[in-house]
Amino acid sequence: MSDLSKQAYEVMELVKAIRPLLSGRAPEVQGAVLADLLAMWLAGHVNANDPEDSDRIRELALQMHVIGVRALIKLNYQMTVEPQLAACAACGAKHEIGRIRCLACGKPLVFPHGRPN
Ligand SMILES: [Zn+2]
Repeated sequence: MSDLSKQAYEVMELVKAIRPLLSGRAPEVQGAVLADLLAMWLAGHVNANDPEDSDRIRELALQMHVIGVRALIKLNYQMTVEPQLAACAACGAKHEIGRIRCLACGKPLVFPHGRPN
């Protein structure tokens, strides 16, 4: 296994361990936790002898991080969100979890994993 593969495996294992801690929490709480962790990570990017260089390093790390996040959004949507969407059997419109009736036609929705509680 290459170093890159080992690192990718390590990332997947950590995400798998952390995900249950965030699952089911309010989106605002999830976002705040991720923002705090990201801020901790960025704070560690430092040139102790040059605060302005620290700012530059952190900005560059943040920009590179956002590029990586953007690259992962579509894949994560396809893997985690899209399979959970409720589809209207009558018209095919897709809806977020928790909606009972189709916004387009008013018919009851069919959920891929059973009706949510
Ligand atoms: Zn419908």
